[in-house]
Amino acid sequence: MDLRELYQEVILDHGKNPRNHRFPEPHNREGRGYNPLCGDKVTLRLQLDGDTITDVGFVGQGCAISQASCSTMTQAIKGKTLPEVEELFSKFHTMLTSDEGSDDLEALGKLAVFAGVREFPMRVKCATLGWHTLNQALGDAGGEATTE
Ligand code: ZN
Repeated sequence: MDLRELYQEVILDHGKNPRNHRFPEPHNREGRGYNPLCGDKVTLRLQLDGDTITDVGFVGQGCAISQASCSTMTQAIKGKTLPEVEELFSKFHTMLTSDEGSDDLEALGKLAVFAGVREFPMRVKCATLGWHTLNQALGDAGGEATTE
């Protein structure tokens, strides 16, 4: 099995059986995201204690990439501090949007499975929806995060 097939398998698995697909109790942050290009929707709730995300979950609907991205994101950020999460998002975003891609796939762990999405700009919005929703949940901005 080559890397591309492995990546596809992980995305399909998480898309079909998303992890942390529930709302944590208690929670003190909520974000909602919508990707009009694809119709992906997500509501993310998390518990922030000090600057550590102690619990996180989401409920959403949409394409496999959007749901798999939320699923792997919740796994990646649970137990992490805000600066750690920020660094992760920055690396993830660079992997998906820069011409060179990321030279630091190892630091991304399972999130690296989305590296191939870079070739499909429409799908980049699916893959980043959860992260934009996370930023919205952590920031003070109300309303809905959108990929537009
Ligand atoms: Zn999508």
